[in-house]
Amino acid sequence: MAVAQQTFEQLKTAGLAEIDPEIAELLGREADRQRGQIELIASENFTWPSILEAIGSVPTNKYAEGYPGNRYYGGCEIVDEMEELARNRAKELFGAEHANVQPHAGAQANMAVYFAALSPRDRVLGLSLDHGGHLTHGLKVNFSGKLYEFHHYGVARETMMVDYDDVLARAKEVRPRLIVCGGSAYPRAVEADRFREIADEVGALLMCDMAHFSGLVAAGLHPNPVPYCDFVTSTSHKTLAGPRAGFVLCREEHASKVDRANFPGMQGGPLMHAVAAKASCFRIAMTDAFTDYPRQVRANADALAAGLVDGGFDVLTGGTDTHLVQLDLRATDWTGLAAQERLEECKLTANRNTVPFDERPPKVASGVRLGTPAATMRGFDEHDFREVASIIGGALQDDPDVEALRARALALCDARPLYPGFRGYTSYAAP
Ligand SMILES: *Cc1c(COP(=O)(O)O)cnc(C)c1O
Repeated sequence: MAVAQQTFEQLKTAGLAEIDPEIAELLGREADRQRGQIELIASENFTWPSILEAIGSVPTNKYAEGYPGNRYYGGCEIVDEMEELARNRAKELFGAEHANVQPHAGAQANMAVYFAALSPRDRVLGLSLDHGGHLTHGLKVNFSGKLYEFHHYGVARETMMVDYDDVLARAKEVRPRLIVCGGSAYPRAVEADRFREIADEVGALLMCDMAHFSGLVAAGLHPNPVPYCDFVTSTSHKTLAGPRAGFVLCREEHASKVDRANFPGMQGGPLMHAVAAKASCFRIAMTDAFTDYPRQVRANADALAAGLVDGGFDVLTGGTDTHLVQLDLRATDWTGLAAQERLEECKLTANRNTVPFDERPPKVASGVRLGTPAATMRGFDEHDFREVASIIGGALQDDPDVEALRARALALCDARPLYPGFRGYTSYAAP
């Protein structure tokens, strides 16, 4: 059983279950967990089997510091082709002049842009974290908040939407070098064109962080920020449904600065298996078949929001333009934390989130952030999401029948199996 008892020959040929039964068992349990609950975390998704195959592939063995045609290692001629495909597909998909597909994840994509555009202590204006921003948009304990002087704009109290007059007023006051738009818990469309006008008025550069909604942009269901921004950053694992990774799009004039900021500025060798998987995810996102998926994500988000409102709940801004619905519990006795725990007992996974002007601390919060990308990937439609809204309504009663609610959630999971063709946790047929 133990690795020490295996021969070198066995190590070179055996599969994971044989080499490390402990981790194999945990992977199997994690696959079962993903299958056996309704995933409503707005930033999560279930990627395609083809992407799992690419991300588990042999370029993990390859060092490729540098960029295609200009590497610090030999033997890069094939990974060069992979990265070229990834870059060209990203540019084509989003209409960008330049793409850097090396950032390991979304936080690194943002870091690459900040390193390219800013000097330490430069002023930046971004969406306030407690109004839906992201930790890389100036949280004090994050590198962004430590290296740069971040200032924040917020949403209007009456509409809970970005108040562009306030953004302009703050921008005139702060005179930022860079304005950042986009966030992690903002249910409405990010109007990059309006941010561009403000950036031009104060002579700032503009970055859009579309980490959450890039899959909607790819399908033409959210305005594309690329034409209006100097820089656009994204993850590939949220609505874009690809591997866990990040990328940067930018104007040609910023291309070499972004590339140098990423390497040698802050990363070493790129994860070429992830680059290969990103290339495939961009290819998938260019197909008509993909477009059906974000369309359903949007329809499901509208159905979820409507179902919650019909059930007597408040949702932030009254609805959504995206995949994301913020349940606002301030009018109830529920905290976000208590609601998250109750939903989990009913096999619904979500995360508590502050709502703007929240009086509770982030660890307790007064909201729950919900999203439709993951459940949509396993086949949920509007009817299913009406049922999800009804289960949530039942769960957040005083004395609910948790057993019955859990059974309803599990019935939905059974009807919409996740990765039905898999043997256990992997798309590879077991030998
Ligand atoms: C998720 C997210 C990121 C960071 O992504 P990681 O891959 O977790 O580093 C950055 N910005 C926004 C707005 C996000 O939602």
